[in-house]
Amino acid sequence: MIKKIDLPYPMDSLEPYYSKETLAIHYDTLYTGYVDNTNKTEEKLKQARESGNFDSIKCLEKDLSFFGSGAILHGLFFENMGPAIPTSPNVELMQQINKDFGSYDTFKTQFTKSSIAVEASGWNLLVWVPEFQKLEILQCEKHQNLTLWGCVPLLVLDMWEHSYFLQYKTKRPEYVEAFWNIVNWNVVNKRFEKTLEI
Ligand code: MN
Repeated sequence: MIKKIDLPYPMDSLEPYYSKETLAIHYDTLYTGYVDNTNKTEEKLKQARESGNFDSIKCLEKDLSFFGSGAILHGLFFENMGPAIPTSPNVELMQQINKDFGSYDTFKTQFTKSSIAVEASGWNLLVWVPEFQKLEILQCEKHQNLTLWGCVPLLVLDMWEHSYFLQYKTKRPEYVEAFWNIVNWNVVNKRFEKTLEI
């Protein structure tokens, strides 16, 4: 059984950058759906193993990737936001950003442009790639396509319409600009520190 993460702040604390109404639907309804569907898929896989009937294995494993990745990314997303109290990359992460992107401003510009350019429903992610020993920015289609295997998501931004349409309508750039105000870099720093163990 996978479990939902607890929302680490009150539902209205990302206002005005991320509305209470959007967050409530996103966290309570949509995220819950991904977690529930992941658990249902795990149950069906267990039944397939017990019965020896693997006729639906392709569909079940696709569902596991889709719903499971949706559950994981949403948990990361809600955790890497927070009330608009200024935080910043720590010394270690900033050094790596400067090394891999040239400067923080260039990183921020690339992440912003990449987010806005995500095709249809997907995500934008700052990731650590252990194989490359390098930070990269990746777009993701749906919840599971276009990854680099083994990468560790550090900062993720949900670019599905359900994440911004109620508040920002079609104004994706305004949504992404607002996001920078509610990034909790303390969480991102901790995620980066953990990659040093890999
Ligand atoms: Mn979402």
